[in-house]
Amino acid sequence: MNNAVLDLIEKLEKQRSLTLDEYEYLIENRSEEAYEVLRKKAEAVRKKIYSNEVYIRGLIEISNICKNDCYYCGIRAGNRKCERYRLTDEQIFSCCEQGYKLGFRTFVMQGGEDAWFTDERLCKIIGRIKALYPDCAVTLSLGERSKESYKKLFEAGADRYLLRHETADKEHYQKLHPQNMSFENRLECLKNLKEIGYQVGCGFMVDSPYQTNRTIAKDLKFIEEFQPDMCGIGPFVPHKESVFANHPQGTVELTCHLLSIIRLIKPNILLPSTTALGTIDPDGREKGILSGANVVMPNLSPEETRDKYELYNNKLTTGAEAALQRNALMGKTEKIGYKIVTAKGDIKK
Ligand code: SF4
Repeated sequence: MNNAVLDLIEKLEKQRSLTLDEYEYLIENRSEEAYEVLRKKAEAVRKKIYSNEVYIRGLIEISNICKNDCYYCGIRAGNRKCERYRLTDEQIFSCCEQGYKLGFRTFVMQGGEDAWFTDERLCKIIGRIKALYPDCAVTLSLGERSKESYKKLFEAGADRYLLRHETADKEHYQKLHPQNMSFENRLECLKNLKEIGYQVGCGFMVDSPYQTNRTIAKDLKFIEEFQPDMCGIGPFVPHKESVFANHPQGTVELTCHLLSIIRLIKPNILLPSTTALGTIDPDGREKGILSGANVVMPNLSPEETRDKYELYNNKLTTGAEAALQRNALMGKTEKIGYKIVTAKGDIKK
């Protein structure tokens, strides 16, 4: 292996930081050998903090209605073929009830930017979940909102917020989003969430259109400086009704490489092995865990709506009920020497 690469890996392990040029060099000169060195270090560091435990989060996709038109997204407003739905409060509570019985202690409410979910409606839902399950965390992934709105949701009991930054390069951001979406506002939202006191997650797609080694280096530098509590990265997978329908999908190889790098940048980060990884490779989720990931997010959404939340082609959805899904995941995780645990799964300081 290139000695300079090895030196950079060691520097990253010791200092948790590299320059932009160094990150770029590390990605540009990646190899199987370098990945194995990174992977082992990432695995060691995650085991020191989280042992061999994998946190499980119950994903509830509350609405596929969205006012935005992100070019890469299957449920973008411009996709007239998408069959829209919105869960009722009772459906959401029923997902939580089922999830709680199965050992889930975090519920992730994810959806498009759907104006029907006003602060008032969301606060009521969050308040009820927290009253029913005080030992559980509520995570929101509902896009950009005002600081005031984020504050109200936090005061109602929401603990965590996931908002992928998508890319830390402004020009790249503009190529992935229509003109009415702003790179600055996305970063402002992340800053606001942190200031309010949420555990905050950012993230990006790997191998997205127009992504370069330089833009990835900027993503890594952003993660290093922003110090998120969580980071969701998964391979880009095209959707047939999106602007990037013909763009090739991302690779497991680069995604896993980056998971290991991110683990070394912030050893205690909550790092999901994403559904997108499991979609492009049947063993993708396990490969993610072996690269340093420590979270999985199976779907608790009602079976009849799961197919409609299609962010990208062939998204890994199974008709299986949540219990079967969880058992299958537990079995696969145990096979690689890890175990799924019933825990709220906050970041360890
Ligand atoms: S990525 Fe999110 S904000 Fe953008 S169109 Fe899709 S659901 Fe809406």
